[in-house]
Amino acid sequence: MPYVPIPAVSRPYLLDLAERRWQAVAARRPDLEPALALQRALLTLVIDLAATLDGGRLPKLSLPPRYVAAKLARGVPALAGEPIPLPVPVLTPTLLRLCDALAAGGAAAAATHIRETIESGNIDPGSLLSASLNRDQAAVRTGALHRGLSPDLVWLVAELAVSPFVNALQRWLFGNVGGGALAAALDGWNRGYCPACGSWPAVAEVVDGHRTLRCSFCSSAWELTTYACIYCAESGEPFVTAAPDEDRTDRRIEVCKSCGGYLKTIDVPELSPFPLLSISDIETTDLDVAAMEHGYGRPPLKDFGARKA
Ligand SMILES: [Zn+2]
Ligand SMILES: [Zn+2]
Repeated sequence: MPYVPIPAVSRPYLLDLAERRWQAVAARRPDLEPALALQRALLTLVIDLAATLDGGRLPKLSLPPRYVAAKLARGVPALAGEPIPLPVPVLTPTLLRLCDALAAGGAAAAATHIRETIESGNIDPGSLLSASLNRDQAAVRTGALHRGLSPDLVWLVAELAVSPFVNALQRWLFGNVGGGALAAALDGWNRGYCPACGSWPAVAEVVDGHRTLRCSFCSSAWELTTYACIYCAESGEPFVTAAPDEDRTDRRIEVCKSCGGYLKTIDVPELSPFPLLSISDIETTDLDVAAMEHGYGRPPLKDFGARKA
């Protein structure tokens, strides 16, 4: 069963679990304290938005299981290229609050500038959020640069604001597929990118020896049937799994000399519920540093050729 459903948990449980994880990271890595404080502010907004969305209804989407199954069989993620109506009035207040949190967390001028540009109508929040949902990095980047904004920060706030919606979408799409064509297509999904949105995983979380890829955007969880590079499928000698810190073999990086890609892999007691995967990501930033110091990187988002601006 390559797609792994993650049970929904209540908001209080999620906040409590997040707090315990942040405190554990801070105890080990006091130097991360400022980054953790910012993440706490950002993720609390994301958790609140997710709770709001859970109380509402998802848009009516025309994504019949057979149609989605045929897409997956061609290697195309379910949501790629689909015209999906976003609940823009629900997401926009969070988008603005995320800018405020970033401003308070040290990116004052740059984040305030983004907020003002959205509020003045110089950026249409609907277009920005749609471009993020479509994973259209080029459109977001160009739009930001045209307006003198930081492309990385614009991408970040839009991604965070859309993430609870896309997480709900993938749970709705894949959560109860039963035994039909879609279930078979998901079982056959053996790609390194997300079957729902096409993003690369942030990390692989390993529970009881099961290496589960976790989407950096929608938090989908899926297992591969092969142990190989998730980017180019190399499984021979150029593909190496190593623990940079010999005393912490629970934290590893998979590196691939064939394509130059790397993936962080960590042992965890249970898969992180949305959006706590970001905590797994931030507590392993030393692994990113180690990989990049050795010349490895993460490839850009894949383009599925059906983007709408
Ligand atoms: Zn995804
Ligand atoms: Zn590779």
